[in-house]
Amino acid sequence: MRIHQLSASEALASLHTGPQGLAAAEAARRLREYGLNRIEGFRRAHPLADLLKAFTPFFSVVLWIASGLAFLLEREMPGQGMTRLGYAIVGVIVVSGLFTYWQEFRAERTLAALLQLLPDRVRVLRDGCVSSLGAEALVPGDVILLQEGDRVPADCRVVEAFGARVNTATVTGESLPRPCEAERSNAESPSRSPNVLLAGTSLVAGKARAVVFATGMRTEFGSIAHLAQAGGEAQSPLRRQITHLSRLIIGLALGLALLFLAIGWGVGIPLREDLTFAVGIIIAMVPEGLLPTLTLALALASQRMAKRQVLIRHLPAVEALGSTTVICTDKTGTLTQNRMTVNALYLGDSLAFETAGNPLAQLQPQCPRFFEVAALCHDLPTGEDGLPSKSALGDPMEIALVELARAAPGPTPKWRRLDEIPFDASRMRLTTLHDAPQGAILYCKGAPETVLLLCTRSFVDGRLEPLSEAQREAVRKAQTEMAGRGLRVLAFAWRPPDSSSAGERLGDVAALERELVFAGLAGLEDPPRPEVPAAIRKCREAGIKVIMVTGDHPGTAVAVGRAIGLVCSESPVVVTGERLHRLSDTQLQLALDAPEIVFSRVGPDQKMRIVEALKRKREIVAVTGDGVNDAPALKSAHIGVAMGCGGTDVAREAADIVLMDDNFASIVAAIEEGRAVFDNIRKFLTYILAHNVPELVPYLAFALFKVPLALTPIQILAIDMGTESLTALGLGVEAADPRIMQRPPRRQNERLLDRHVALRAYLFLGLIEAVAAMSAFFVTLLAGGWANGEPIGTDDPLYLRATTACLIAIVILQMVNVFLCRSPDRSVLVTRLGGNRLIAWGIVLAAVLILMIVYLPAANAFFGTAAVGPGAWLFVLPFAAALVLLEELRKWIVRRRLVPKPES
Ligand code: ADP
Ligand code: MG
Repeated sequence: MRIHQLSASEALASLHTGPQGLAAAEAARRLREYGLNRIEGFRRAHPLADLLKAFTPFFSVVLWIASGLAFLLEREMPGQGMTRLGYAIVGVIVVSGLFTYWQEFRAERTLAALLQLLPDRVRVLRDGCVSSLGAEALVPGDVILLQEGDRVPADCRVVEAFGARVNTATVTGESLPRPCEAERSNAESPSRSPNVLLAGTSLVAGKARAVVFATGMRTEFGSIAHLAQAGGEAQSPLRRQITHLSRLIIGLALGLALLFLAIGWGVGIPLREDLTFAVGIIIAMVPEGLLPTLTLALALASQRMAKRQVLIRHLPAVEALGSTTVICTDKTGTLTQNRMTVNALYLGDSLAFETAGNPLAQLQPQCPRFFEVAALCHDLPTGEDGLPSKSALGDPMEIALVELARAAPGPTPKWRRLDEIPFDASRMRLTTLHDAPQGAILYCKGAPETVLLLCTRSFVDGRLEPLSEAQREAVRKAQTEMAGRGLRVLAFAWRPPDSSSAGERLGDVAALERELVFAGLAGLEDPPRPEVPAAIRKCREAGIKVIMVTGDHPGTAVAVGRAIGLVCSESPVVVTGERLHRLSDTQLQLALDAPEIVFSRVGPDQKMRIVEALKRKREIVAVTGDGVNDAPALKSAHIGVAMGCGGTDVAREAADIVLMDDNFASIVAAIEEGRAVFDNIRKFLTYILAHNVPELVPYLAFALFKVPLALTPIQILAIDMGTESLTALGLGVEAADPRIMQRPPRRQNERLLDRHVALRAYLFLGLIEAVAAMSAFFVTLLAGGWANGEPIGTDDPLYLRATTACLIAIVILQMVNVFLCRSPDRSVLVTRLGGNRLIAWGIVLAAVLILMIVYLPAANAFFGTAAVGPGAWLFVLPFAAALVLLEELRKWIVRRRLVPKPES
């Protein structure tokens, strides 16, 4: 018989295990035999296909055409070095292609390695105790405990289930969750049986105990893993901008080349010579380094974020983070520590707060069952005695309540649990049914709003009495008072054994959940995380709105909000779930205009509505979530943020980033890094666009004024791909500007290459460099005895020395310029020279290369250069000084304009 056809105990026996799981030694033995529980060999595309892709981006296609042209021209005018140029261009394509490929490969690897930091944990019974283990260590025969939101780590057979529902979409494609139960089944295959949970599916409700029967590649999921395809990654806004930008630049290059051909034709330059220069223009303008720099910048940023406890699941999220305008955040665990202590009790007649001399556990409750509810109504894993172990894993709130009950005098009953209705965020309560000597007794705890509605009775002077309206009012008053102090308030209730209902099973619990006896309230304190107030302040300075979305009481939410500086005004807008239901989309959007808004008592389905409304308001929304029900909101938001410690697997799978420490402050840190990426790509762009001008001007001068060509195409390649390759890359990975969180988020339609960047690069930095380069060229020519208008051969030693001087000027000025490009407005005295290893190595590389190009005879022959005296080098110095001074002056003016005028 197959495993699903056996009864639960037969299934356990068939795997040589028992309800208390395997012994640790046996588990170790099985691990050696069956191997790690892991799906191996996931590969998206053939590596060769990736490689091919790296050689055929838009830039490379244009370069391929340029090299083809060069080879053609060799036939027209042999001996001009056109073949050499052709090969050099092919070399450039290959080098930049390989580099891009390597960068993307590394980025993917980094991402994969980072994700490894977050192993799937499972709760396993070993030697009769519950422990939390990496999912890889599971072996057949292990008994695991699953609850709402857990991913099923291996194929297993359910042996006990309470209200469990499983979502099998990942394996069977069915989108509706189906119930799962422990009874034997007659389904034709295990995968269709309600008592089997397949690896890769997830529990979306309830809880279950199950025994593992297949792990790793032997699971159903393992056998189809090679079929599964990772969906293509959506293009991020930045990538889209870069594509747009490259089209623009290439269009500009082709346009210039055509214009140049036309001018050349007009002034009577022979077509083949004309074409040579067209090739030169294209080479000068194609920004080969743009794509690899972007990938590198994103990958490094994701690494930096990991150091700040934020794990990136999709690379584009790095950059989306940078433009975040609104964060919707949970309260418990994200803004607060989720370290609960019971701080106040309302025991039916009076409200008492914890004081040193009078511990709450010593209070005499009016209702004798009060501490029983605390001790028994929870979802913590229990040992054989039915009580949670001292160091139980689970909800800190429930642990705090159990601790309280333990400290109370008198024995705690150890009544077996018959059934339960698990907690879920929309019901806001947990109900359990226990096997007491007098019959089945029901305990319930949860949000007072929902629990009080079920209560009809209370305990007065040892007797059950109807719950009066005055008593209800007193309860609500006590709740408001506790909430006002930031406490999370829970109501306790119970239902006396009822002879007719003893031993009833699920379904009937729901029917029993009525006419409860009110037992009291507990107020739990959950201190804010210490880093949070500073992070909230940072958000405020950075123009990022923070909206708390919690399932807790409005009073508690506002009190916590005040404690962390989120709520400052006297009367913030508080929208409860109930009110949210009645708001139309328009009304909700209008409500969201309020500067301070808190959502409380919202159901999980309503989070999605808030996110959608914010998106309609054109905000870039980051939203946190931990439960199964949060998954849609996490997917819908621009940046879904899941919790690494507290949250569920389902939420993590739906999210773009995961907070390893569950801390709100980490989101803010990641936003900072994300903003830096955009800035850095801009710095890179400014730098490489600046050199386009001195590279182009020689061609324009040649065409318009028929002067000799100051810079040859192959020399342009030497600059773009050689001397400034590393320095440019270095700008892509600069550290964030310390003031980066003091300006508003970037506008969504803000272009990478906006007017300011273009003007600064082309008309300021570039122009100065062009003047220097052309001066170097002509001064050398004139000093060598050339008179204006005279023709000069391209192999004339004087001409060779003059182009060399021009090349030297550009290379040196770009070595200086890289330091100026480290910030668009901060002085180089502030940004300093050090602090970026890539730039430092880039400067060394540039120096070595330019010396080789100028002084090595072989390089002279290849690049068309000649050795020059110290004069050519010294000539550049005044220009370098001018470049620095003028740029400093420009930055100073910009800074003065940026200083906010004092409010009048
Ligand atoms: P939060 O946004 O603070 O995390 P939740 O949605 O988790 O809020 O919880 C909503 C409400 O449900 C809580 O205020 C509390 O009253 C109730 N609640 C939370 N956890 C439990 C539990 N384990 N058992 C009973 N009630 C609970
Ligand atoms: Mg919660």
